Amino acid sequence: MLKGRILVTGAAGFIGSHLCDRFVNDGYHVIGMDNLITGNLGNIEHLFHLKEFEFYHHDVSKFVHVPGDLNYILHFASPASPIDYLKMPIQTLKVGSLGTHNLLGLAKQKKSRILIASTSEVYGDPLVHPQTEEYWGNVNPIGPRGVYDEAKRFQEAITMAYHRYHGLETRIVRIFNTYGPRMRMEDGRVLPAFFSQAIRGEELTVFGDGSQTRSFCYVNDLVDGIVRLLLSDYEKPVNLGNPQEVTVLEFANEIIQLVGNPKARIAYRELPEDDPKQRKPDISLARKILHWEPKFDRSKGLELTFEYFKKIVPLQ
Ligand code: UDP
Repeated sequence: MLKGRILVTGAAGFIGSHLCDRFVNDGYHVIGMDNLITGNLGNIEHLFHLKEFEFYHHDVSKFVHVPGDLNYILHFASPASPIDYLKMPIQTLKVGSLGTHNLLGLAKQKKSRILIASTSEVYGDPLVHPQTEEYWGNVNPIGPRGVYDEAKRFQEAITMAYHRYHGLETRIVRIFNTYGPRMRMEDGRVLPAFFSQAIRGEELTVFGDGSQTRSFCYVNDLVDGIVRLLLSDYEKPVNLGNPQEVTVLEFANEIIQLVGNPKARIAYRELPEDDPKQRKPDISLARKILHWEPKFDRSKGLELTFEYFKKIVPLQ
């Protein structure tokens, strides 16, 4: 029996495509939407023959129309890597603000529950470590990352306003660094950059001295947390991520070791402006209300991701 109809925006993207897979497998009818400026149809090609899946090529910053009932909306459309939002600052601002507004309007009209993809970037370069949901953040509104950070902060504000004013059923997930198959090789983020460089036997470009930290979550764990949050009754933001923290330099060395290409080596590059010095989620809230925690540790997740990247870039 059909469990419901779901709209996933950003369906051809990295996380969006994994969500489409999961919801189709769980017995939902999935409508995927994407304008394909950073998404890749190859990520969802395998779903096109299914009657449980439809795809709309559409930019959610413009009025969104979906015929029929909608039980759930998951808003995952946005450029999401620092070089993408540097290249597309206006689209990034628009999808987080106008796009979110359109989808909240759609949710109100269809009486759907809506889950919004927010980010650890709402904490900026955090002065509290690890980051709890109560922390308000340390964001430079006019820096190069401001277009993403402030769009996502606005997105949270308008989502809570629709919840409070219109009584909409809303969910907000603050996603920390996530990785896995289907990340775009050239999206500039640290993991695809290091994998492609290590596989090609090039220099791994460590920005700054590599002492900044990140905490990487495998995509299957994230998707599991998102499904739990969607089906929960918790209406305020929830952090999802893996608290296993690592410096960027250690991370580069782990990837060099895993790939095993003797030509790969470390090279240092200038640290980008406003690059957060540390990031690690406090996931106590998710543990308590969703009974969720990551199951894939970094070594397992990296192995699975290497399998994927190996197919795209043959070892050189
Ligand atoms: N980074 C790096 N080399 C690269 C790409 C990124 O050292 O080729 C660093 C970057 O400066 C940041 C961290 O890796 O400190 C994570 O960067 P990413 O772009 O993946 O996302 P962020 O977590 O900064 O949003």
